[in-house]
Amino acid sequence: MPQTAASVSTTESLDTELARAAAVPLPEADRLAGRFPVTPHPLPATQAQRAQALGDLHFGRVFSDHMAHARWTRDGGWDAHEIRAYGDLTLSPAAAVLHYGQEVFEGIKAYRHDDGTVWTFRPRYNAARLNLSCRRMALPELPEEDFVASLVDLVRTDVEWVPSGEGESLYLRPFAFASEAFLGVRAAELVDYYLIASPSGAYFPNGLKPVSIWVTQDYHRAGRGGTGAAKTGGNYASSLLPQRLAAEQGCDQVCFLDDVTGDNLEELGGMNLMVVDADGTVRTPRLTGTILEGSTRSAILRLLLDAGRTVVETTISLEGLLEGIASGKVREVFACGTAAVVVPLGRLRGDGFDVTIKGAEVTHEIHDRLTGIQYGRVPDPYGWMYRLV
Ligand SMILES: *Cc1c(COP(=O)(O)O)cnc(C)c1O
Repeated sequence: MPQTAASVSTTESLDTELARAAAVPLPEADRLAGRFPVTPHPLPATQAQRAQALGDLHFGRVFSDHMAHARWTRDGGWDAHEIRAYGDLTLSPAAAVLHYGQEVFEGIKAYRHDDGTVWTFRPRYNAARLNLSCRRMALPELPEEDFVASLVDLVRTDVEWVPSGEGESLYLRPFAFASEAFLGVRAAELVDYYLIASPSGAYFPNGLKPVSIWVTQDYHRAGRGGTGAAKTGGNYASSLLPQRLAAEQGCDQVCFLDDVTGDNLEELGGMNLMVVDADGTVRTPRLTGTILEGSTRSAILRLLLDAGRTVVETTISLEGLLEGIASGKVREVFACGTAAVVVPLGRLRGDGFDVTIKGAEVTHEIHDRLTGIQYGRVPDPYGWMYRLV
């Protein structure tokens, strides 16, 4: 699309380390397959059990028959790559992750297209982000192609666990943690990487439903120099109390402000934020080091820009947002992330304010555009989709 005046904007995020990594082509799945040799589950779910599980999908409770695993030692590097039966782990009670939280994770989905093929979305983005998180958490990096190979080998092994209903997917959860049995405080010298898979239903089976948000002024998700840009369990642990307090206020989710001024919007516990103005401009908090750089956020910025919109990464103050909603300058606010895709915000509450947001037109538009690409209903001009099976 030609560069029009309307598409001039400050979208630093289209050229971050993750965006650049995601753009490097991957070998076809056939060439990566086999890096994680399969030891089949001795007693996999029967077809009837699987059909029952796939017939009543929620999120994160049911898991496929297998999991991928590799182990890292300081002396030997990554080794022992395998696909084996999904099951409980044996872990020393002294494993460092249980005490010091040295852990990272990812979230990515496998989508079944109408022709039966199975695809994933920008896997190299998640591979690079896992490594960015690993660096921050002093964990060893996993070669990006091995990360993608684990997706290929697990999804090929458990392909029958990829659901085919509207909005359904096989949610993939890669994670790595310090398994060394040692209570000394230093980076672990024994680390395990796993990938598990959970068939999941549409986040909004009956169409996008606006959620209510509690903006916390008492707690922050991340601070300068902290771990906010890493996908690590500790960030989620620290969000659980404010999330519970938000729920006690009758809100669905909690939104965090920056810790320096306490004025500016950052993100939800696990989703990035976007604001749509009445003039069609879309604004999102810029990446300051305390915000997690979402793959969904990145893709949406690209789609909006290519649709000719003005897209701005900037500072968004809570006060300015509330004024904008009151004056009609702000039409829509939505959150975005892999699990839920796009979530319209219908109500913003906090100490001393309670406002409703009615619009969701651009939110729906972007949801349909992005899921259209992910489910193969429309062409993918970006090469975002990667065929697994
Ligand atoms: C994972 C995550 C997101 C969304 O990232 P996606 O790559 O879009 O799934 C946003 N914020 C936080 C804090 C996250 O952990």
